[in-house]
Amino acid sequence: MTFQDFNFNEQLFEGIQSMGFTTPTPIQEMAIPAILQGQDLIACAQTGTGKTGAYLLPVLNHITGTAKHQTSALILAPTRELAQQIDQQVEGLAYFTGVSSIAIFGGGDGMAYEQQRRGIQNNVNIIIATPGRLIAHLTSGVLKLNHLTHLILDEADRMLDMGFSDDIMKIISYLPKERQTLLFSATMPGRIRSLAKAILKDPQQINIAISQPAVGIDQQIYRLHDQQKTPLLQLILRDSAYTSTIIFASRKEIVKSLYKELRAIKIDAMAFHSDLEQKEREEILLKFKNKLLPVIIGTDALSRGIDVEGIDLVVNYDVPGDPEDYIHRIGRTARAATTGTAITFVNHRDERKLKNIEQLMDRAIRVVGLPDELASIQPAPQSAQSDDKRKPNRPNKRWNNNKPKRNS
Ligand code: AMP
Repeated sequence: MTFQDFNFNEQLFEGIQSMGFTTPTPIQEMAIPAILQGQDLIACAQTGTGKTGAYLLPVLNHITGTAKHQTSALILAPTRELAQQIDQQVEGLAYFTGVSSIAIFGGGDGMAYEQQRRGIQNNVNIIIATPGRLIAHLTSGVLKLNHLTHLILDEADRMLDMGFSDDIMKIISYLPKERQTLLFSATMPGRIRSLAKAILKDPQQINIAISQPAVGIDQQIYRLHDQQKTPLLQLILRDSAYTSTIIFASRKEIVKSLYKELRAIKIDAMAFHSDLEQKEREEILLKFKNKLLPVIIGTDALSRGIDVEGIDLVVNYDVPGDPEDYIHRIGRTARAATTGTAITFVNHRDERKLKNIEQLMDRAIRVVGLPDELASIQPAPQSAQSDDKRKPNRPNKRWNNNKPKRNS
């Protein structure tokens, strides 16, 4: 399929070409025809799939050349950053169409507010907004949306997470009932379905398959501070029957220092990172593959490349920022219908990342209590204050009877 198949107007087509888009992404292939037909839509798709283009292109096609001086489309987004990113895509794609747009978000000074107000008064064609600030303009009476034809909710799940549910409903009360509504969300929990039911009419549903980890992985998390991480790792590696372990860390520097720490306590581990020669990396992987090396430490680069059977433990020394990376990391164990364990260390700074992962998988990961002997380890002074805000770990009294066992 090509962009020509959608029969977009010439000016829009020029914009697509100037942005360097040659082939529609899967979500674009699925969503664009439905939106062009005027249908409401609920789409499950994450950032990086081309979801923004999937709704912008048909909406731009519709409003190009129609009434010049009215606001036809409203895009609601959870954050200022996302609103700005969407606005940039509008500017690129709509460059030759004459369609105007403005991003409206909170923060900034009086001048920013004034600029937004002027944009609104000029009847800009597309408004991209965070809900709170948009309401300020609506209730002040400056903004009128009586001619709106398209409402788009982008990252709807995040908007609900951030407590925008009432704001969204309030904004909708200002809009014409006859309109096309498109809802995009990375996850589809029940609350999103209820929202969709309330604001969409007979929507078409689109799903871009979300990755799920293999069912055979026993996923666990420990809540702890940084100084407890290596001692816990030591306990896990020493007291258990795991024979083949990968430890992931987010940065090369952490991989290197962890390697030194583990060697110092006589754990047979090797570090795998981009500073090594290709030959050295190959040797390490071969040793690991042949079970001559029990522990390998690496960054996410390792999670995508390595295909080794019989890995029984994956440890995330920190929580990856991209939830998909978590799935890739833990997917190194329990390959080909076997079982395995994935343990993730979560300090208070990584809680948000953990939440994103749990949302992606649509389930919570089991929390394991820290063993008693680690309770007395104090956080480093500079992080002590913020660490104290965390809920204390309940020590796991049964740790000694509850050592991790090899899953077979
Ligand atoms: P999104 O998922 O909407 O955040 O888009 C991710 C990135 O992909 C953005 O930088 C877009 O400019 C780009 N993109 C969207 N659609 C296409 C396409 N059909 N071909 C190439 N790049 C695209």
